[in-house]
Amino acid sequence: MALSYEMGPIRPPSEASSLLLRLTRNCTWNKCAFCHAYKGKTFSRRSVDEIKQDIDTVTEMCRAIRKISRERGYGGTINRELLVDIYESGDFQLFQIASWLCHGGRTVFFQDANSLVMKTADLVAILKHLKKCLPSVERVTSYARSGTLLHKSVDELIELKQAGLNRIHVGMESGCDEVLKFIDKGVTARQHIDAGRRVKSAGISLSEYVLLGLGGRKWSREHYIDTAGVLNAINPDFIRLRSLIVIQGTPLEQKMLQGEFEEQTEEDVVRGERLMIEHLHGIQSNLISDHSLNLLEEVNGRLPEDKPAMLAAIDRFLALPEEEKQNYILGKRWLMYRRLDDMSDRSRYLRVQEAVDKLKQEGKLNDTVLLLKGQVV
Ligand code: SF4
Repeated sequence: MALSYEMGPIRPPSEASSLLLRLTRNCTWNKCAFCHAYKGKTFSRRSVDEIKQDIDTVTEMCRAIRKISRERGYGGTINRELLVDIYESGDFQLFQIASWLCHGGRTVFFQDANSLVMKTADLVAILKHLKKCLPSVERVTSYARSGTLLHKSVDELIELKQAGLNRIHVGMESGCDEVLKFIDKGVTARQHIDAGRRVKSAGISLSEYVLLGLGGRKWSREHYIDTAGVLNAINPDFIRLRSLIVIQGTPLEQKMLQGEFEEQTEEDVVRGERLMIEHLHGIQSNLISDHSLNLLEEVNGRLPEDKPAMLAAIDRFLALPEEEKQNYILGKRWLMYRRLDDMSDRSRYLRVQEAVDKLKQEGKLNDTVLLLKGQVV
């Protein structure tokens, strides 16, 4: 029988090449109005023994892959030919582990949404076992809620860092208390700040996720300005931008249907993104736009030195004539473009323009943009 271990559904894009180890199942909170990731699923803990068993299984799979490599005459290395062989064998998890080894076997992500909820001693035991079994591992990361981090002392976080936990990803979403309350995030801006600072003072790298558009029309300025204020107070290592999409069946969709939430236009979200970046001061964070739902994926850089270039990229979009803005927005949502430069491909531009003209005639442009945007999720 093929070896297998438990895997959860989600990881951050930056962990695409990481080994995914499931420490807990689903989300401890599961109430955020915009989130559909674990809706209808109940949080549960896995025992330390179960998780160690998974690490042992992965170790065994690594040995098996190297054995296959030697048998095929590749001397234990994981090359493209071996990956193709394993892929064609149909063993998906073995292929995943082989791909991970091919990338160096250096990074691990702890699933699911809030594994820091585990006892510190248990997390330390898992980290130690992981490092002993898989010595190539250099970076271990996990999601954590700010509220959960506040239940760990700085000393506990230092203990986790020493055992090998290098980075924590926090879904901050907003720094505006009204927005946090409206979407039932379960934490305040102050708590986001305290939790973030705690992680930083333990020497653990910190990624904060911001959800552009989450304030809707009502908090169209406060969401961005207050979020910048919280980020300024934390100085996270990474600020990762995400863009709101109202997903069917979520509480946010209900609020929208009841008239309690109005979405910002694509252009207003970009203006808000500009407002937020403009208000980032005194921090040395990497701002990263690593999600295809973000309209301008080129807005990336290190603060403070790249701030003018990031604002210039946004201003370039805002200065486009209306027709070109519409062309870019439809082309982006249609996955014809990733960034503004892609519009200079004349044949792509004309193809998108033909679609824009047709949809405008039919009065369906905005609905089509929304529909296409929803398909990215
Ligand atoms: S804490 Fe994260 S995973 Fe849980 S409901 Fe909120 S956004 Fe979703």
